[in-house]
Amino acid sequence: MKAVTWQGKRKVAVDTVPDPRIEDATDAVIRVTSTAICGSDLHLYEVLGAYMSEGDILGHEPIGIVEEVGSAVTDLAVGDRIVVPFQISCGHCYMCELGLMTQCETTQVREQGSGAALFGYSKLYGQVPGGQAEYLRVPHADFTHIKVPPGPDDTRFLYLSDVLPTAWQAVEYADVPEGGSLTVLGLGPIGDMACRIAAQRGLKIFGVDRVPERLARAARFGVETIDLDAAGGKVADIIRDATQGRGTDAVIDAVGMEAHGSPVAATAQWSATLLPDAVAEKLMNTVGVDRLAALQLAIDIVRRGGTISLVGVYGGMVDPLPMRVLFDKQIQLRMGQANVKRWAEDILPLLGDDDPLGVETFATHRLPLASAPDAYEMFQRKTDGAVKVVLDPTA
Ligand code: NAD
Ligand code: ZN
Ligand code: ZN
Repeated sequence: MKAVTWQGKRKVAVDTVPDPRIEDATDAVIRVTSTAICGSDLHLYEVLGAYMSEGDILGHEPIGIVEEVGSAVTDLAVGDRIVVPFQISCGHCYMCELGLMTQCETTQVREQGSGAALFGYSKLYGQVPGGQAEYLRVPHADFTHIKVPPGPDDTRFLYLSDVLPTAWQAVEYADVPEGGSLTVLGLGPIGDMACRIAAQRGLKIFGVDRVPERLARAARFGVETIDLDAAGGKVADIIRDATQGRGTDAVIDAVGMEAHGSPVAATAQWSATLLPDAVAEKLMNTVGVDRLAALQLAIDIVRRGGTISLVGVYGGMVDPLPMRVLFDKQIQLRMGQANVKRWAEDILPLLGDDDPLGVETFATHRLPLASAPDAYEMFQRKTDGAVKVVLDPTA
């Protein structure tokens, strides 16, 4: 089959690789019909060389049709249409029963303390081949799926794999009081969707980014947008002025350790996550990267007693937090990867024909799988209006 593989820093290829097959009785194999590229793939694409091996199959946002099931799979049949959550979870361990599927004790990558195994994340999360491919093996398939009806276009349900539950959890964790206010930092796919979900709940929303198309998309959902660069360091002041001087009830950081575009900064930033404290700090200072820029902004914007919901990925082992400010402002910090299956039932009612979240027009590009190298480059550079890019392995 054809699959998108990691080949080196900022280099992916579409290779012919062996078809996946049932390895365990609890596996299923699906034929992928649509598969998206995520901001998280950019971390692997850009700077995660230390963890990647040439030939690793990328991708964790697929939808498709069940081709084959293992002998122990009882909840799926050949021909079922399923979305595959980005994390692999068993559904019956202590953590899964708590609704913390990202901490699944059955698939957890113990030696790294990383949490549940993830598709397409190389050694970092269990070395499970990803879903940017014609076919995908789904371990623990009885639980690691969301069954969806035939009929509507793939894009109606595709984002249940990641974007929707991730944005949903971000809004849940933000815990904004009814009629309250929220700032969303970063208007990529995750921040954009978080704005749409928050708008459904009638919240007052400020959205911050520096990419014009992304600001414009959020504005269409009633978000008051602020251009990070045009605001020239005054983002928090602008938001305080509009909230009786207090700041918003909550802030969602949908940026994470952003590389600010420069490849040197990006490499230094990720390398620093692997280095001892003092060396990392020196490296960061030398290159001049503030890898906590978005989080620092969130701490400034949130009102006293408010909540910061961290959905952007942070991987620094030694990042210094301003503990005095966090303590004095009595800020609640909530974070982590999205527990996909926990939220699926809550989200499904919003995926009807009236499409209140605009999922069917959410993708800016749908390209054949063979175009993956160009698609990654475009999404990474944020050119051609690329916000969400979906690959089609059937084209
Ligand atoms: P993306 O890279 O497309 O979006 C990030 C956006 O942040 C960009 O539009 C960028 O211009 C903007 N930005 C950069 N610095 C900023 C700053 N200081 N203030 C405001 N905006 C800034 O990625 P995405 O797909 O939207 O994902 C966002 C983050 O969420 C990534 O870190 C990704 O890894 C993470 N993520 C987490 C989960 C989870 O389960 N927690 C799931 C999916 C993605
Ligand atoms: Zn993703
Ligand atoms: Zn489990």
